[in-house]
Amino acid sequence: MTSQRTRQRLVDRLSEQGVTNLQVLDVMGDTPRHIFLDEALSHRAYEDTALPIGYGQTLSQPYIVARMTEVLLGAAGKLERVLEVGTGSGFQTSVLAQLVPKVYSVERIKPLQDKARQRLRQLGLNNVELKHADGGFGWPEKGPFDGILSTAAPREVPAELLAQLGPNGVLVIPVGGNTQELRLIIRDGDSEDFVTQVLEPVKFVPLLSGVTR
Ligand code: SAH
Repeated sequence: MTSQRTRQRLVDRLSEQGVTNLQVLDVMGDTPRHIFLDEALSHRAYEDTALPIGYGQTLSQPYIVARMTEVLLGAAGKLERVLEVGTGSGFQTSVLAQLVPKVYSVERIKPLQDKARQRLRQLGLNNVELKHADGGFGWPEKGPFDGILSTAAPREVPAELLAQLGPNGVLVIPVGGNTQELRLIIRDGDSEDFVTQVLEPVKFVPLLSGVTR
């Protein structure tokens, strides 16, 4: 299940689906996705599907993790500080942490955050800070960020996230309700203007407000 061949098969699939960034493909092949799942599901960890992580939430499909990471890396100039909204299992967090110097991640469900923290520690990823909060407000004390990646979908792009983008900062975010689209939004220099590109239809859990213990 955790064999190098199983993981290589996943990487091959991702590149067939159009993921081309070699760094991203390497990290996807190196990251043990099975430790981000409960034992009963861990045998399915290297399938290219979203999987439940409890509390009605899901670990995103590997393709979408790879794709969002690739889009973020490709669109950003310097990428030193990245904010993730929706830590969930911590899988996307750990992929980011292997590619950028400093990752901040916010999760509204405390038990999910606790488990994610353990997994990141287990992998020795020390360049991540986690916060239990409503990530719709970003993490103002730690901003501005070079990149922000949301793994939960708001109906509209939160103004707070745009405000926390630094010069030429990049936001990758699913937006919508029953139908959603993945958007790439880039701050134009240090202006208050943003350029938006619609990438592809996606299906994420909703960005909810408030926190749960
Ligand atoms: N990146 C995660 C995906 C988890 S699903 C992974 O790789 O496993 C999206 C996550 O966003 C869920 O854990 C959900 O609880 C969280 N979420 C939803 N709304 C949120 C909000 N307002 N603030 C922070 N996290 C939120």
